[in-house]
Amino acid sequence: MLRTALLAAGRSRACRAAVERAPVTRELVARYVAGSTLEEALGAVEALAADREVTLDHLGEDVTDAARARATVDVYTRLLAELARTGLAARAEVSVKLSAVGRLLPRDGEKIALDNARRICAAAAEAGTAVTLDMEDHTAVDATLGILAALRADFPSTGAVLQAYLRRTEADCRDLSGAGSRVRLCKGAYDEPESVAYRDRREVDRSYVRCLRILMRGTGYPMVATHDPRLVAIAGRLAEDAGRGPADYEHQMLYGVRDREQRRLAAEGRRMRVYVPYGDEWYGYFMRRLAERPANVAFFARSLLSRG
Ligand SMILES: Cc1cc2nc3c(=O)[nH]c(=O)nc-3n(C[C@H](O)[C@H](O)[C@H](O)COP(=O)(O)OP(=O)(O)OC[C@H]3O[C@@H](n4cnc5c(N)ncnc54)[C@H](O)[C@@H]3O)c2cc1C
Repeated sequence: MLRTALLAAGRSRACRAAVERAPVTRELVARYVAGSTLEEALGAVEALAADREVTLDHLGEDVTDAARARATVDVYTRLLAELARTGLAARAEVSVKLSAVGRLLPRDGEKIALDNARRICAAAAEAGTAVTLDMEDHTAVDATLGILAALRADFPSTGAVLQAYLRRTEADCRDLSGAGSRVRLCKGAYDEPESVAYRDRREVDRSYVRCLRILMRGTGYPMVATHDPRLVAIAGRLAEDAGRGPADYEHQMLYGVRDREQRRLAAEGRRMRVYVPYGDEWYGYFMRRLAERPANVAFFARSLLSRG
């Protein structure tokens, strides 16, 4: 219930204004977001790069005008050029939401998103790194996987994200488990109806294990995006059963979440990549993070009440 309400608030303009104004917000946002500028983002990458790899996300989604979609491409192009110039491209790739580069534009949105994503992939290739396409709500999956296939024809290292809470995902894992395919498996962060998604946490976890088994037994490159200790342990066992060494898959976690565990896994010799978001459009991302952790909500609510 609370999760549903928070995710709905994440799409509401009125709630956005209230949350953005709340003094406590800044403190919590700083936990999850590396800063608003490119320099701050690069600083975070530098700090992490000693023992971890990174995927950088320029915050923003659901863009409804073409100029903003083009501006997002420019931001990524500059970011990738800076990663190359500073030598950080060897440790950092980028994550892109197709709705930030035009997927939802009323005319030719998918074509525009493909063209824009292609420009980002070309900039990434030139920098010596790669792009992963974030996955948004279930209505975006077909378009995102279609665009992924088109991009992979020219940029084979472009990665996908699949969400274990969707009933279709086992089949998508089979389709994307072949050689050269980079797949980030996560539980899924949106509020999805029962008709397309498992809503019970245990069912989501079971689906995650089935999906991960398919990816580990395949010939692609699984990216295990979860902070769930049970699933992290199961990933290690499934990799071993499938004869994969530490270089044949990676763990991924979010900036600001389970940092000590991230460092522990890296120290064990596992590949650990951190998803680092930056930029001013943090609202939607932040509300999804709040929804994942009831303790955050309690803290947030208490702070709002105590201030008046
Ligand atoms: C690298 C990465 C990329 C992602 N990309 C996408 C994407 O493209 N599309 C998409 O739908 N979702 C994405 N997600 C989000 C994902 O779907 C989940 O919503 C999120 O990771 C929480 O699920 P969990 O697997 O960590 O398990 P949970 O059971 O939710 O969490 C396990 C434990 O992790 C800790 N934890 C989890 N979330 C938080 C939090 N917000 N704050 C503090 N502690 C927390 C808590 O200790 C919790 O008990 C991504 C996640 C990661 C790690």
